Amino acid sequence: MKIQAAVLPETAADIQVGDLELAEPHAGEVLVRLHASGVCHSDLNAVDGTSATRCPAVLGHEGAGVVEAVGAGVEIQQGTHVALSWMPSCGRCEECVRGYTHLCRKAWGGMSHGGLLDGTPRLSWNGRPVYHYSYLSTFAEAAVVPEQCVIPIPDSVPFEVAALVGCAVSTGVGAVWNTAGVRPGERVAVIGCGGVGLSAVLGAIAIGASPVIAVDLSEQKLELARSVGATATVRWAGSADATVRAIKDASGGGVDYAIEATGRPEAMQAAFLSCRPRGAAVLIGIARADAMLTIPAVEIPRSERRILGSAYGSVRPERDFPRILQLYAEGRLPLERLISHRMPLAETAAALELVRNATAVRAVLQL
Ligand SMILES: [Zn+2]
Ligand SMILES: [Zn+2]
Repeated sequence: MKIQAAVLPETAADIQVGDLELAEPHAGEVLVRLHASGVCHSDLNAVDGTSATRCPAVLGHEGAGVVEAVGAGVEIQQGTHVALSWMPSCGRCEECVRGYTHLCRKAWGGMSHGGLLDGTPRLSWNGRPVYHYSYLSTFAEAAVVPEQCVIPIPDSVPFEVAALVGCAVSTGVGAVWNTAGVRPGERVAVIGCGGVGLSAVLGAIAIGASPVIAVDLSEQKLELARSVGATATVRWAGSADATVRAIKDASGGGVDYAIEATGRPEAMQAAFLSCRPRGAAVLIGIARADAMLTIPAVEIPRSERRILGSAYGSVRPERDFPRILQLYAEGRLPLERLISHRMPLAETAAALELVRNATAVRAVLQL
């Protein structure tokens, strides 16, 4: 079938919207008619070459839509509303067997090859193959994806909200609920209040953390964080030390968990130093490949402060997407507040630009 999609012809080139060919789903795959796709910082990393991506590619890994057709052996029904996960875990590798399906060796290993699970793409343009991004490619009217990526959702959930659950929301909320395991009354700071960071703020409020301190450069984003329930805000003070002082003042001496969602080493440092004894910095943000993190080593044994990595919020999509959407339905996770811009597919390049200059909390393409 012919579909409109936004193509990155090569690293750092301009995005082009064109008519591509999308092949039928193979066995174990699903054709999804997409209705919304969030635009994530990881997509921008692919455009800029910060993370190596096989091109030409259709980017986008945060989508939702309706099942239109299925390949052999797939049980999900046509017409089912779905959110997409970008982690088709195999269930059999060492990490999956240990229960860490979000770290699936097979899925991470194939992530940058640009194919689906068999290594081949379903997209082509003028007879040439076009590669997938994170097994999905949601900057398009439709996608063929592995069945493990398809998570059924209630018909009542708006597609734009379901799309964000596929990456930003799961990454942020999951870091709080799963990776950190924050408990009611624990103190949380979140450094960086874009889509992922603000999701962490919402997840911390929903679980009963207090205080929940939002930290960002942008007064506008801090205002948004306050309006969704952050109990305190700290404007990034230009250096880790000054910001740490402000977070400590706002938290009565340091937090139990400092969630870092910018990928910048100075913010990671601030996260670590903002913790009280036994506290943990939870690092979500994707740093440049050559970035190093320096922290005072003496602080680790003396105060038992820890650093936790968090990939995809340590989520199990089939378990966690429904939990998240249940709290959304109850009004306890106001996920629609994350959406700052709605744009058509034709404006994909402009949407990526909003991510680049940190204007957007979350921009969503309406497909
Ligand atoms: Zn993402
Ligand atoms: Zn696995």
